[in-house]
Amino acid sequence: MNFFDTHAHYNDEKFEEDRNIIIREIKENNIKYVTVVGYNIESSIKAIEIANKYDNIYATVGISPNDLDSQIDLEKIESLAQDKKVVAIGEIGLDYYWNKENKDLQKDIFVKQIEIANKMDLPISIHTREAVYDTLEVLKNRIKVKNSGIFHCCPLNIELIKEAVKLGFYISFSGNVTFKNSKNANKCIEAVPIDKLLIETDSPYMTPEPYRGKRNNSIYVKLVAQKIAEVRNMELEDIAKITLENAKRVYKIVD
Ligand SMILES: [Zn+2]
Repeated sequence: MNFFDTHAHYNDEKFEEDRNIIIREIKENNIKYVTVVGYNIESSIKAIEIANKYDNIYATVGISPNDLDSQIDLEKIESLAQDKKVVAIGEIGLDYYWNKENKDLQKDIFVKQIEIANKMDLPISIHTREAVYDTLEVLKNRIKVKNSGIFHCCPLNIELIKEAVKLGFYISFSGNVTFKNSKNANKCIEAVPIDKLLIETDSPYMTPEPYRGKRNNSIYVKLVAQKIAEVRNMELEDIAKITLENAKRVYKIVD
């Protein structure tokens, strides 16, 4: 049984000491593919470096809504996106939980990075937090996303999921669906068409139960898959296989 962790940050400094060991371990534990996601210029460069070191690792490049005080060099993002291991532009989007003061700038940079994705023929990885309405508004009215994309660590908001699916997006669940206080998890898991379902860890964050609080790694993506299998009354093996195929489709990975 093989898994695809569609969103992890092995470019994070929390992996500085033991990155190589962890990446070897996850491979030995049936994590067949991982996408390492950038969130500013530096982390995007690092994601590409890691992806070029390991066959089973891919990268994304982008500037997240929480990194707009770092260098906003969109030409650099476009040039980084040309690397053959880059499979998406992201994580990009809107975050009004951490940043309410610069909503217009967030929207503007989100749109401009979608333009890059469209130009480069890449999908997008969307980060949205406390900004559901505006995120959908951008995707519906301001720019058309050419190559689909992923709502990463998707908020457990049934209306958002329905709208996102209608627009052709994929929904990626993380440890958030395993948390004891996540009331809507089951309903949200059921609302996603099986061919749009993805799993991720968002390592080193969002560690699933029962390991919540520890540093996350891709091996724990199995706990997310396990939760989905239980809710949908399916075999873990089928969830693994389907989410892996879905991830390869959205990221256009051929092997
Ligand atoms: Zn992330």
